[in-house]
Amino acid sequence: MQFAKRLDKIPPYLFTEIDRKRQELLAQGIDLIDMAIGDPDQPTLSPIVQTMHQALDSPDTHNYPRSRGTLAYRQAVVDWMAHRFGVIGLDPQTQVTSSIGSKEAIHHIALAFIQEGDLVLIPDPGYPVYRTSTLFAGGEPYPIFLTPDQQFLPDLTTIPESVAQAAKILWVNYPNNPTGAVASLDDLAEMVEFCQHYDILLCHDHAYSEITYDGYRAPSVLQVPGAKDIALEFHSLSKSYNMTGWRIGFVVGNVMGIQGLSQVKSNVDSGVFKAIQQAAITAFSTSESELAAITAIYQRRRDLLVSGLQALGWPMTPPKATLYCWVRVPRLYTSTEFASLLLETCGIVVPPGNGYGKGGEGFIRMTLTAPDAQIQEAICRMKRAGIVYR
Ligand SMILES: *Cc1c(COP(=O)(O)O)cnc(C)c1O
Repeated sequence: MQFAKRLDKIPPYLFTEIDRKRQELLAQGIDLIDMAIGDPDQPTLSPIVQTMHQALDSPDTHNYPRSRGTLAYRQAVVDWMAHRFGVIGLDPQTQVTSSIGSKEAIHHIALAFIQEGDLVLIPDPGYPVYRTSTLFAGGEPYPIFLTPDQQFLPDLTTIPESVAQAAKILWVNYPNNPTGAVASLDDLAEMVEFCQHYDILLCHDHAYSEITYDGYRAPSVLQVPGAKDIALEFHSLSKSYNMTGWRIGFVVGNVMGIQGLSQVKSNVDSGVFKAIQQAAITAFSTSESELAAITAIYQRRRDLLVSGLQALGWPMTPPKATLYCWVRVPRLYTSTEFASLLLETCGIVVPPGNGYGKGGEGFIRMTLTAPDAQIQEAICRMKRAGIVYR
């Protein structure tokens, strides 16, 4: 037996590696504080679970769903986009598809639009799947480095003309994983304009649209006039409603983008279990106050973590969104060295920033999905170990 050559290009998934290390240390009886993966620790909201219970009893959820999702689900998406962002007039037949979580759709869009050797513009640091999906499709990732000087927004003026001419997809993601950065509607409009000019499919990953703090509300790229000509937006119910295990999301926007994605998907998967789609429809009617209760938990943890790190000398501004603090490593350490130091001296599990691309060197990512007491304990352990920022 032999692996296909394509696997040589695909690194092991970042969190598979971290998990292996974590299991090793747990087996040694080490008391770990897990601040690695952005997986909500709170249960799925109970009305969603209730709908699921009922839907399970209904035999018409038991047969094959359609790859694109039920019309009821797609209509609920259209209504939610209108209510949440003021994006009106989306056509549930041609401008929406369900996805088995956004990771699946991010992977499959590349198979629809990327040919051997095509360039894909990818934020670096960034969610690893943009890069691997490009590689699976035979394309070439071209990194757009995100730096603190640019508030972790892509500087599109640095992209050489020949690269922009050749690129087929631009990936962007705001609120941003891993940096916690946000983009204004004007920032998104610049990206739309760039993609219109060069005929590039703009793919906006909006996994954290609802995980925002201090009253900040994240815009949709589809609010930009003309965006539907060029843009797709990838949404996920995972983080917003504590539904990571359920595997449901949706993609909205450009007709040709949805058509290509659906053509791939209908040949690969048979959609999302209809009972889960029904539960997701309930999720869309979650009230503002219930959502606020979820984000209040993360906001409190963010404040604990940021103030704790500041007390240890860290220069930090609290992120306005996402489940992450993107934390500089002290000078004289690499990302990997500092992540190892935290693990070995404090039992704190964090991914090194370079796990998100070369541009993540010099940072680690700390998640807000650990309970308050553990975040406080993490800071105490760092203090005891004499770890400070210098
Ligand atoms: C978590 C995450 C996803 C994947 O979400 P699923 O819908 O659970 O597949 C996609 N993009 C980013 C940036 C994420 O952090």
